[in-house]
Amino acid sequence: TIGMLALDAQGNLAGACTTSGMAYKLHGRVGDSPIIGAGLYIDNEVGGATSTGVGEEVVRNVGSFLVVELMRQGYPPEEACKEAVMRIIKKKTNSTKDLQVGFLALSKNGEYGAYAIQKGFTFAVCDSQKQDLIIKGKSHY
Ligand code: ASP
Repeated sequence: TIGMLALDAQGNLAGACTTSGMAYKLHGRVGDSPIIGAGLYIDNEVGGATSTGVGEEVVRNVGSFLVVELMRQGYPPEEACKEAVMRIIKKKTNSTKDLQVGFLALSKNGEYGAYAIQKGFTFAVCDSQKQDLIIKGKSHY
């Protein structure tokens, strides 16, 4: 999944995500990406979030909605993503060794952050004022 979050010059938030890079999925499976609140959620008063990884886990935890609600409570974006990841891990009864779920978040004031279970989760930030593109990697558990 590719998730995109944007904040325009008027302070309005938007988001989009693709679906679905999951291998060997069953025909007819609905992942997290097309479900608002799971793979993507935007609240123009607070921020936006999007996810990648095993969609079933994200759906069960209404992951992107959770990230935005945590930001509403005052969590910075990265901490909100981390808390959402930790809730998924906490509910798992089997190993998370091969499980990947990652969240990306952008707040109304332009702060951003991400967190994923596995290493190798990267994201890009484009800042129109600084006219540059930053590639970031943030993932650990
Ligand atoms: N989140 C997607 C899904 O479960 C998989 C992906 O990240 O590509 O459908």
